Amino acid sequence: MSQRTFTIVKPDSVEKGNFGKIMARLEGEGFKVLAIRKLQLSTRQAEGFYAVHKERPFFPDLVKYMTSGPVFVAALERADAVPHLRSVMGATDPAKADAGTIRKELGESIERNAIHGSDSPENAAIEINFFFPTSELF
Ligand code: GDP
Repeated sequence: MSQRTFTIVKPDSVEKGNFGKIMARLEGEGFKVLAIRKLQLSTRQAEGFYAVHKERPFFPDLVKYMTSGPVFVAALERADAVPHLRSVMGATDPAKADAGTIRKELGESIERNAIHGSDSPENAAIEINFFFPTSELF
C-alpha cells in the first residue's frame, strides 16, 4: 500500500554536503519526492516540530542543533514508506545503527544523526502538513 512519510535532511548533513547522497539513496529505495524545500528552522518551528520531546533533558540542545543551519524538508511516498524509511535511516544512535544505514554511514552522534523520518503514518501526515499545503504535493 502506497504511503506517505516525511523527512528532514538535518543540518549536519547539509553542512557536510551529504544532501545529494541522501536523496540519491532515497530515490534508489523507490521513494518519490512529493515536495521538497530548503529552509533554516526558526526556534519556534523546531520547538513546535519536536514538541513531544519538550520534557526531555536533551530538548534545548536538539532545538539549538536543528536551528544551527539550513535543512531540507521533504514529503515522500512509496509502499510502506514509514517503516521503510526508518529501516533505511537506522537507529537513532549511529553507533547502534545497522551497517549500510544512512545514520551509520553519515551520522556523527545520537544528536547529529543526519536525517529525520516520521515514526508513524499519523505523525507523517502531521509533519507533512507542518511544512506543506496539500496543493504543493505532487
Ligand atoms: P528518532 O525518531 O530516531 O529521530 O529519535 P527521537 O524521536 O527519539 O529523537 C529525536 C531526535 O532528538 C533524534 O533524532 C536526535 O537528533 C535527538 N536525540 C534523541 N535522543 C537524544 C539524546 O539522548 N541526546 C541528544 N543530545 N539528542 C538526542
